[in-house]
Amino acid sequence: MMDVNSLARECGEFCLETISVTRVCIPLVEHFRISSGEVRVKDALLVRVSEGNAFGWGEASAMPGSFYSPETPDSCQSDLIDHLVPALLGQRFGSMIDLNNRLEQLSQNRFARTALETAAWELLARRQGVSLRQLMGFPQVAIRSGLGVGLHGTEEELISAIRRQWSDGYHRLKIKIKRGQDISLVEAVRRGMGDVPLFVDANADYTRNDFNVFRTLDTYGLLMFEQPLPKEDLEGAALLQKQVQTPICLDEGVETEEDARRAIALGSCRIVNIKLQRVGGFLEALRIARVCEDHGIGLWVGTMPELGVGAAAALVLASCPAFAFPTDVEPSHRWYENDVVSPPLKLSQGCHLVPPGPGLGYHVDPGIVSHYEVAKWHFPANH
Ligand code: MG
Repeated sequence: MMDVNSLARECGEFCLETISVTRVCIPLVEHFRISSGEVRVKDALLVRVSEGNAFGWGEASAMPGSFYSPETPDSCQSDLIDHLVPALLGQRFGSMIDLNNRLEQLSQNRFARTALETAAWELLARRQGVSLRQLMGFPQVAIRSGLGVGLHGTEEELISAIRRQWSDGYHRLKIKIKRGQDISLVEAVRRGMGDVPLFVDANADYTRNDFNVFRTLDTYGLLMFEQPLPKEDLEGAALLQKQVQTPICLDEGVETEEDARRAIALGSCRIVNIKLQRVGGFLEALRIARVCEDHGIGLWVGTMPELGVGAAAALVLASCPAFAFPTDVEPSHRWYENDVVSPPLKLSQGCHLVPPGPGLGYHVDPGIVSHYEVAKWHFPANH
């Protein structure tokens, strides 16, 4: 894999001359339910940065209600508007490493940082007239998509939710589980869907007292157990991994390159799901990916899920050959009444094809953004 730190330096210096932030709320076509809560609307912040004629878009896409992470759309808004944007506006950065260091000094909120970091990467690609995928040296490949389905009221509802989507050609299926709704759900999916490539995501709902659940699930031929234990309990994950054949995949548990090194040293996982939002953008994502690849840890790109801006960035990351498992990035119609990019994300035979145009390859539609806009800020105020 290329060295992202060298690439960041090669792309040279830049200035964030203008920055705009738009908060949008877009209704979900299906409520998103995991072990710790439920959302009905996608509430995200879209960031546009520019230098001369070049520009880039980014997205801060935390879940409301702190049920995935402590960050929320409200905390992202205040971090961006009150701290990050005023501090970075008009500043010149020696490289992306310089910007990333400033972002880390200014805020602990990786979701807010991701919006600015990924927007700056798109700006650098557009400045050179190339796609961000090309800038990063990743091949143009069909990116296999996996279907993720949340918790539902009954097993019948779960199976019909899966069947409504499965005809899009997805390459694997992931279901959410929580304590008390686990083995029976996997049995129901095996009955209803047969021997499809399947795994479970617990979103950290279990403890070290629940290992018997995973010992039973170990007999169902699942691809992985995603984040069974609390994110801090890497030692617990290592204990569980010793007792099951199924690979453990960490999501919430790996926020930094340092976390990845620790998890690998402990034997806490065999797979890592990297989300740009969770780790603070491309630089840290590719640093984590490199450590994982060097140690034979499997990789795939996860989502919050994000709107088209964040999803397009995730597809750039998923073009990196180290990410061998199908991504959680789904087509726009899977979640949103309307997505902010045109064309919307679509699947062909269950795969995404990243458009070859400059930057992220997608056009952010101003009409759709303004239709769903709940607030907007321009910096400097009169641009
Ligand atoms: Mg997860």
